[in-house]
Amino acid sequence: MASDNNTRAETLDVAIIGAGLCGLQLATLLQTSGRRCAIFEARMRVGGRILTLADGAIDLGPTWFWPRTQPRMTQLVAALGLSSFAQHDDGRVLFLDASADAPRTVAAADLHGGAQRLDGGMGRLTAALAQRLPAGTIRLQQRLRALVRRDDHIELHLQRGAETTAVHARHVVLALPPRLAHETIHFTPELPAPLRAALRETLTWMASAAKAAMQYPAAFWREAGHSGNAFIGHPQAVLCEVFDACNPLDGRAGLAGFFDLDPAQRQLLSPHLPRLLRGQFAQLFGPAAADGTLYHYDWAEDPLTCSALDRAEAVTMHPLYGDARLAAPQWDGRLLIGGSESAGRSGGYLEGALEAAARIAAQLASRTPPPTGASGARNVETEMSQAGTGR
Ligand SMILES: Cc1cc2nc3c(=O)[nH]c(=O)nc-3n(C[C@H](O)[C@H](O)[C@H](O)COP(=O)(O)OP(=O)(O)OC[C@H]3O[C@@H](n4cnc5c(N)ncnc54)[C@H](O)[C@@H]3O)c2cc1C
Repeated sequence: MASDNNTRAETLDVAIIGAGLCGLQLATLLQTSGRRCAIFEARMRVGGRILTLADGAIDLGPTWFWPRTQPRMTQLVAALGLSSFAQHDDGRVLFLDASADAPRTVAAADLHGGAQRLDGGMGRLTAALAQRLPAGTIRLQQRLRALVRRDDHIELHLQRGAETTAVHARHVVLALPPRLAHETIHFTPELPAPLRAALRETLTWMASAAKAAMQYPAAFWREAGHSGNAFIGHPQAVLCEVFDACNPLDGRAGLAGFFDLDPAQRQLLSPHLPRLLRGQFAQLFGPAAADGTLYHYDWAEDPLTCSALDRAEAVTMHPLYGDARLAAPQWDGRLLIGGSESAGRSGGYLEGALEAAARIAAQLASRTPPPTGASGARNVETEMSQAGTGR
């Protein structure tokens, strides 16, 4: 590990850990305020929990934002020039209460509360943010393993494959689920006990969930008088909620849904899931629904989203986020905790990731910036273009 004083380590003003929505939006805000930063991301891609497949047709992470209550998301979508459309709700929903029964249609107005979807999937949002950052800002496949507090900076130990390198930063922002920070990052000195407790107690929203989607040549269920929305409540259910995943702007058709099976059941049934999922769609919308192109993703099996604690915890409702212990700066203001779960409003949602980014940008704005031309900025860009790391 290159952490001894004889090794030349890069020095940054702000090191952001995690290229999910929070980390990318924070880097964007810091560029605007003239503060230079780099994002270190463990995955080979940006977006974190945002996962769009099939050339923009399928979202296996977040699908919706809600303009009625989410001003930051609404403004960001508009500012980036992205197109959105309303989630298809025609006032009807299917209920399937017993596996042997036929589903019954029930009236349900405004089922998704005015939810909007992005044309091309939610991945458009993070791709657009990443594209606008200066070359070399985002460093993929760099997993933070340890932070060491020094007099005037923090030392980061970053792992890429078998190699670990050291980077120095005046400030570090953890833009990742708090429980992952607690379980996977080593802090020297140890963080204060109340903060450790807050990191441990804060559930990662949707981390133990799994989602499935089917693509079809046409929305045949609409012709049969169905909206595509359904709830399944019987004990053999594979999915608990299904929704129409068509895109009226490009004409592509699909259905998507959330698993009812818990992480342990999913693991046990893993080889059989494709068959079970096709059967579940068919049980709701008829035999044609078994025949699409199937996608599914289990977030509980993703160690860069789901902590061991999240995997073990049954989630029944959206938790109350906004723990003041997470929002308080640490290590003399050099260490800040971000990620959607640290937000006071809309915690756990995309909107919360944006709120956390805004809070941290404001917290950093009150700190003295490094002298103009000091190590951070030029050094970072030169080293990045040499290293050839992507955005
Ligand atoms: C199935 C599902 C459905 C959802 N539906 C919706 C929805 O419809 N609407 C909505 O508003 N929200 C929804 N959410 C929640 C939404 O996805 C999150 O609120 C949001 O994406 C969180 O962004 P973030 O940047 O805070 O964290 P993340 O997206 O989790 O990003 C954290 C990043 O940190 C990286 N990372 C982790 N550890 C390290 C490390 N040690 N070193 C370097 N990098 C690291 C990760 O790889 C990741 O890229 C859903 C989530 C899921 C999983």
